[in-house]
Amino acid sequence: MTQLAQPSSAETIALFERYVVPNYRRYPVCLVRGQGSYVWDAEGNRYLDFFPGWGCNLIGHCPPRVVEAVRDQVAQLIHVPNTWYMEPQGQFARLLSERSFGGQAFFCNSGAEANEAAIKLARAVGHAAGRFKIVTAQGGFHGRTYAALTATAQPQYHAGFEPMVPGFAYMPYDDLGAADRLIDQTTAAVLVEPIQGEGGIVIPSDSYLAGLRRLCDDRGALLILDEVQTGMGRTGCWFAYQHAGVVPDILTCAKALAGGIACGVMLARPEYAAQLRPGMHASTFGGNPIACRAGIATIETIESDALLERAQAIGSRFAQHLGSFRDQRPDLVRDIRVRGTMIGLELTVEASPIVAACLGRRLLINATHGHVVRLLPALTISDSEIDEGCAILGDILLGLPPAASTH
Ligand SMILES: *Cc1c(COP(=O)(O)O)cnc(C)c1O
Repeated sequence: MTQLAQPSSAETIALFERYVVPNYRRYPVCLVRGQGSYVWDAEGNRYLDFFPGWGCNLIGHCPPRVVEAVRDQVAQLIHVPNTWYMEPQGQFARLLSERSFGGQAFFCNSGAEANEAAIKLARAVGHAAGRFKIVTAQGGFHGRTYAALTATAQPQYHAGFEPMVPGFAYMPYDDLGAADRLIDQTTAAVLVEPIQGEGGIVIPSDSYLAGLRRLCDDRGALLILDEVQTGMGRTGCWFAYQHAGVVPDILTCAKALAGGIACGVMLARPEYAAQLRPGMHASTFGGNPIACRAGIATIETIESDALLERAQAIGSRFAQHLGSFRDQRPDLVRDIRVRGTMIGLELTVEASPIVAACLGRRLLINATHGHVVRLLPALTISDSEIDEGCAILGDILLGLPPAASTH
């Protein structure tokens, strides 16, 4: 087939209207190319991306080492099943284990699947002792498959899909008293995010994770941390739990794990990992050589370019810009929450019109939980790119009419 001219955004949109399930709200733009913190649409317009890949493109669009590793691997061996050994999976598991708590890896392809594996492992570990209950936090997000969805304690995501999976219980986030009341002799595990991402970049108090760790230890439950969004250097540590000085029993990670290639992982302490014996759990594509080569290249990029350190500097620069918005418009800005390149700007007004206005100025951002502007910029973003995008965001925010709020 000869290569025809690039179809227009409108032509591609027409294909979707006819042939693609309409389960996503999409902007009327077809993206065709990305590099670093920029993407281009089919019409050749360039956008500055403060939310690259919904958090997956942590080291920017098409990071060179990842591109190179995937090109090399795809010509060598695309896929073999987990009935064989493959060197990239072993190497990637080692690199992740060494940067976390010395656990063992089960690979899959997404965050939801990583959480499914964690929930199954926790129930398998607790089974003989009659432990099955999974305690999760309200406002959390763990994915769309049934157990991960049940773990997601947000009624709007359950509506219409009931009955949910039995054996889950929900507590308010960042409330150790509530955790104390729910964690009991039937509890297999507590599953929380170290920072709630989709829930609005909610950073718990410093003692929260340590408090959960203590309660789990006292009651014999496992602590599972969902680092699908916070993991892989997003917050300036490899994993967000490392800021809190506690160690989980099981950790899940996906989104940024392999530089934008689909990959998920569950890391488990070896004594628990040993309980997933052959036949108990599996993923056909999990740990495939392409994803693992991409993951290894992601770690190499973060280390050789000192991007964990850079995460802190990026966060500070954003915090300065957002702080100046708050100074100028205290009626609009309710809270600023920054941990590395996880950035939440809570407003007194709906955030989605601001996303639309930014798109009009070719700046890509995200809104979550109604009032929160969420930014997950790449660790490779430059100071001038930060300043350029924040100038646009500032223009739009400062131009809004006074908020009639009870702030
Ligand atoms: C995105 C996300 C998930 C779900 O990941 P998928 O890859 O979409 O299945 C789970 N947990 C957290 C914290 C997330 O941010």
